Amino acid sequence: MTTLPSHPPPSQQQALTDATHDPRTTLLRMQAAQQKAGTPSYEQRVDGLDKLDAALRARQDDIVEAISRDFGHRSRHETLLAEVFLVRSGIRHARAHLREWMEPGERETGWVFLPARTQVVSQPVGVVGIISPWNYPLQMALLPLVGALAAGNRVMIKPSELVPETASLLRDLIGRAFPEDQVAVLVGGADLGETFSCLPFDHLVFTGSTRVGKLVMRNASENLVPVTLELGGKSPAIVGSAFAPRAAATRIMAGKLFNAGQTCIAPDYALVARSACAAFVEGCTAATATMYPTLEKNPDYTSIINDAHHARLKSYVEDAKARGARVLELNPAGESLDKTRKLAPTLVLDPTEEMLVLREEIFGPILPIVTYETLDRAIAYVNDHPRPLALYCFDHDATVIDRIIAETISGGVTVNDTMLHFAQDDLPFGGVGHSGMGHYHAREGFDAFSKKKAIFRQARLNSTGLMRPPFGKALDTVLKFLIGS
Ligand code: NAD
Repeated sequence: MTTLPSHPPPSQQQALTDATHDPRTTLLRMQAAQQKAGTPSYEQRVDGLDKLDAALRARQDDIVEAISRDFGHRSRHETLLAEVFLVRSGIRHARAHLREWMEPGERETGWVFLPARTQVVSQPVGVVGIISPWNYPLQMALLPLVGALAAGNRVMIKPSELVPETASLLRDLIGRAFPEDQVAVLVGGADLGETFSCLPFDHLVFTGSTRVGKLVMRNASENLVPVTLELGGKSPAIVGSAFAPRAAATRIMAGKLFNAGQTCIAPDYALVARSACAAFVEGCTAATATMYPTLEKNPDYTSIINDAHHARLKSYVEDAKARGARVLELNPAGESLDKTRKLAPTLVLDPTEEMLVLREEIFGPILPIVTYETLDRAIAYVNDHPRPLALYCFDHDATVIDRIIAETISGGVTVNDTMLHFAQDDLPFGGVGHSGMGHYHAREGFDAFSKKKAIFRQARLNSTGLMRPPFGKALDTVLKFLIGS
């Protein structure tokens, strides 16, 4: 669905490519080390999580600076909240629950087979590959790592080439914390991503665009590598009639403008009752002025990642204008942003389906406002489009909220706010349909990187001899009881 650009041409990618690690050799080395060392103990896994936590604590300022250099400017608070805090919080959660997650699960044994026992044991799958995007370059590389380490795996990470400073910091940070045959960061471009997707990993996590996700899954299928695909798309925010439109606008704009909208779960567009639209627009305008009274030098307002994405976003606005939308640029101090890569928050009113703002994932500070007459129509609108990664609904009437949750399908939902379901360590995260498949975070992350091995433990004294030939009367009696024949 989405056509977000763009990777440097191959000539520039070469310069970014890691000459010290050949991906195939690294994978072979990890597989050999894993066979030699066997399944890591609880203590070894906790040690891995602790090393990662200590590295993040020690390099916090470097992380803030590297990401900011990559973006042109990235808010320090956004980096601390959405990268450092979220990963460290995920580590704490995994550490606190690891014993319980690793515990073999006792299952019910069919009575015919008693007194045997049945269990499910979680075993590390082996070596996990992670291909990550640029928008939260630390978190998107390291949160899957937390789940994979907790589950006892070795991991190879390929960060995005659009964030070279962060990628090389990650390589350094991980290289100091872990032996090369436990966790390795390989730096490179789309070509290295393609190579990764062709490697016989035991599991591959891809976070990025839906377009590239399809290519990755196709390549992974050659080796029957299971994939977790964390993709993009258009996440709606539905404002119901029992929620003050201005209050909804404040929360939607806060979600939209965090990281200047470059968030996979940002509210992409708003669905607002026609009668509430004017108040909603006033609310968006007021909220923007309060949160970002200035833009150009405001340290809280993040830049667009590169010129190509800046041009893409501007082209969406131009396209909307040319096709007859009303466009409202929210630039509270009326500054020129020409010398920066910042883009003013922009509302698009009366958008139509052929406009790029409604056809493509926006991934920037532009909010189209689609109006509806009835809640039925709003729900139908969501269901007429590919299943979103996130959905936001605002209402104080629980029946309305329950209806929206039940009648739409999305990766996750935050009610009466935006994006906060992602920050809950105990909730799984993942898309559905075009927004992805599989989950990570929480216990589901541990499970995604574990083989659930089914085990039947036969008892010393048992009756299964009856099931071996020569079959006799005793089995006939049992079968009569079981299936009536
Ligand atoms: P992208 O798909 O262009 O790139 C993601 C990664 O894939 C990069 O590391 C890139 O080098 C690599 N890559 C590029 N071409 C490849 C190929 N042919 N084979 C294998 N790997 C390849 O995405 P992006 O521009 O970095 O990120 C933006 C997209 O990611 C948006 O669509 C956004 O919604 C999505 N996203 C999703 C989540 C989520 O959790 N669901 C999180 C962040 C971003």
